[in-house]
Amino acid sequence: PLPAPAQGRDALSVLRSVFGLPGFRGAQGEIIRHVTGGGNCLVLMPTGGGKSLCYQLPALLREGCGVVVSPLIALMRDQVAAMLEAGVNAAALNSSLTPQEASDIERRLIVGDLDLLYVAPERLLTPRCLALLARAKVALFAIDEAHCVSQWGHDFRPEYVGLSIIAERFPDVPRIALTATADELTRKEIVERLQLADSPHFVSSFDRPNIRYEIVDKRNAVSQLKDFMRERHAGDAGVVYCLSRKRVEEVAAALDDAGIAALPYHAGLDSGVRSRNQDRFLNEDGIVIVATIAFGMGIDKPDVRFVAHLDLPKSIEAYYQETGRAGRDGKPSAAWMAYGLSDIVQQRRMIDESSGSDEFKRVSIGKLDALVGLAETPHCRRRRLLAYFGEIVMGEGCGNCDNCLTPPKMRDGRVLAQKLLSCAYRTGQRFGAMHLIDVLIGRLTEKVTQFGHDKLTVFGIGRELNEKQWRTVLRQLVAMGHLLSESESFGALKLTDSSRGVLRGETEVWLREEAPGVRIRSSRA
Ligand code: ADP
Ligand code: ZN
Repeated sequence: PLPAPAQGRDALSVLRSVFGLPGFRGAQGEIIRHVTGGGNCLVLMPTGGGKSLCYQLPALLREGCGVVVSPLIALMRDQVAAMLEAGVNAAALNSSLTPQEASDIERRLIVGDLDLLYVAPERLLTPRCLALLARAKVALFAIDEAHCVSQWGHDFRPEYVGLSIIAERFPDVPRIALTATADELTRKEIVERLQLADSPHFVSSFDRPNIRYEIVDKRNAVSQLKDFMRERHAGDAGVVYCLSRKRVEEVAAALDDAGIAALPYHAGLDSGVRSRNQDRFLNEDGIVIVATIAFGMGIDKPDVRFVAHLDLPKSIEAYYQETGRAGRDGKPSAAWMAYGLSDIVQQRRMIDESSGSDEFKRVSIGKLDALVGLAETPHCRRRRLLAYFGEIVMGEGCGNCDNCLTPPKMRDGRVLAQKLLSCAYRTGQRFGAMHLIDVLIGRLTEKVTQFGHDKLTVFGIGRELNEKQWRTVLRQLVAMGHLLSESESFGALKLTDSSRGVLRGETEVWLREEAPGVRIRSSRA
């Protein structure tokens, strides 16, 4: 029989002959050595970092077939095609096959005619597939998009939980889990589920230096978006994320009316329309896709010049992953988001109204708060983003985010904070932003009169700012944790443990003078 293509060869020569690449990038060489030697590991590497090679190469170097668990059929298809082109015997087992095709692949696996086999998780978990793998020679298991095991993550896939069976059934086969996004908690879940406690973690820098981060104050989001696209991304391909299907349709229509080639994408669209829009985005130049988060995973388009968020994602992980779809080719790209107080309230409400456990809600709120902190920070956004993933950036700032490029003017906000917190306190911590601001600037609304709030000492004590300015103060206090917006009581703002220090003047409060983004240019609602 012919020798397996890579047997007896070293990693570098296979890298050159099969993949046509001159050398390893980052930790690739180390990871490949470790896995080829039979070790388990967790690999955290940003999108475009070169994760595939970390399991493809060891699969070729080790005896037997590498089994890759991958959540998306489209993703598998692309990978298999690329491998076949490189002369690697690769195949995929998923629901798109006829029984005939599937049994042919199974046969090839058993006789040792495959180097790489991509399997959907639900398929792998079937008794039939597990029995098949037990009979075959498996070189390694690669669990791609491993963050899908996290029940608190943004991409939770219940099938992934069952993958713990891999460690139980095949303890001697190396396991390599890979993901491009995992905060501390998600990493812990991956390690538990896939039993990687004693295995090394290879963590690459998550920085995407070519992406410029910008977060602006949401006024009239669609017209702000149009300005952003017209001024800086005319004719560029991009992705615009919205929270709801309805919003996707509206925004796509509005952009289309403005002469921008925009196409909608969400799970409620007919599958024919969906794949047609996706194909056009991938194959034509300058198409903007307006989508819910249903769009993106496995979409590998190198020249996406911008990713825009019209609504706040659920977490920094989600934000990082979605914005990470920009600029895979390494060229300058933008991550732009419009965000306002209503986004926080809406996300809080979604969490509160979800059917999750108390713990789920607590964790979700923590993740949301971290993202609000990123949106409100007056400091370098990249530093903040990376710090969330446990990465420390040296030096001043990145020089490629809005706050670094145009540092916001800061002011001592102690007195303003005290006024706002006192107002929340005096009115009984039962009212939302709108009413508190009415009281502060001394507006005699029906509600103010009804509750007798015009009789309070705090009535009209905040006339030095207008409503919009108070909103930015309020949001920053929420982001700093001095005020808490509780949606179960219709957005009522309450004091927190840290409010006391502010009210007593013991805690410093530095506030941005303006809302983020106003200095860059945006239109009035
Ligand atoms: P990920 O799965 O981490 O998003 P991929 O494995 O798809 O990334 O790799 C991203 C791109 O980088 C691919 O085009 C791949 O060919 C390229 N690449 C990977 N490793 C190397 C390397 N060592 N040298 C040059 N290019 C590489
Ligand atoms: Zn910066």
